[in-house]
Amino acid sequence: MSDSLFSSLPQMSPGWVWLCGAGPGDPGLLTLHAVNALRQADVIVYDALVDDRVLGWANPQAEKVYAGKRGGKPSAKQRDISLRLIALAREGRRVLRLKGGDPFVFGRGGEEAQTLVQHGIPIRIIPGISAGIGGLAYAGVPVTHRDVNQSVTFVTGHDQSGATPSTLDWEGIARGSQVIVIYMGMKHIARIAEALIAGGRALDEPVAVVTSAATDAQQVLETTLGTAAADIARAGLAPPAIICVGRAVLMRQVLDWQSMATGAAPRDLDPLGRGRPAEAG
Ligand code: SAH
Repeated sequence: MSDSLFSSLPQMSPGWVWLCGAGPGDPGLLTLHAVNALRQADVIVYDALVDDRVLGWANPQAEKVYAGKRGGKPSAKQRDISLRLIALAREGRRVLRLKGGDPFVFGRGGEEAQTLVQHGIPIRIIPGISAGIGGLAYAGVPVTHRDVNQSVTFVTGHDQSGATPSTLDWEGIARGSQVIVIYMGMKHIARIAEALIAGGRALDEPVAVVTSAATDAQQVLETTLGTAAADIARAGLAPPAIICVGRAVLMRQVLDWQSMATGAAPRDLDPLGRGRPAEAG
């Protein structure tokens, strides 16, 4: 894109914090606002889930501050991160707070933004592509499909304490959600699957586990609710992972575009068995 088009995008002013989603991995999934911010920021405070290739789009002069957990180092405390952002803004820096996926989806972006506003720091929010939508799309799983679901539920697999969210009514979710997209679900997958089955979901309900979606390390496991926990362990899959429960997962048999790009044939052109010709609306 030419510089003149960039100049039509907003300018970052000193003392501002832009809270920005970096998408699930592939830098091609950054928004124009995100790239515009990467080019202008003096300092970039980023999380563990921000792909290194995304940082490659930053202004080379920008200071990069890591604010996450990686390589066994303890995670920076949420309060410390917010205070750091406030201090940087008060120094008159142009601050980019970069978070994986979308900043307002299970990313504590709401809390950080609130703290900034409470301290009188001007902010801009730049949404990003959330792993639970875009990451699944990279695995060939559409989160909605007319023949499968008219609703989708995004749920976190653990709460602040690291336990399965006890406030969640898993049986209600099992009953009321046609497709369930689980963030942070790896640790408690056995218990989650059990709860969904207890809530009436079938043992053979299709499940997809997508680790490091939209990165070079992406892996996809197709399994079922009854076997998910064992299959994940056997495959040695590690977080970050998005887990999708529901018949939308079957669509991967025809929509696994990454495999098709390397020459594989679709496994089934009509995995939902509807036989509807493409033209018929
Ligand atoms: N704000 C992020 C979510 C942060 S919570 C978003 O909108 O995507 C962290 C969880 O997000 C991870 O535990 C995992 O469940 C999911 N996640 C984030 N990036 C991912 C990726 N590239 N592949 C798979 N899961 C991912």
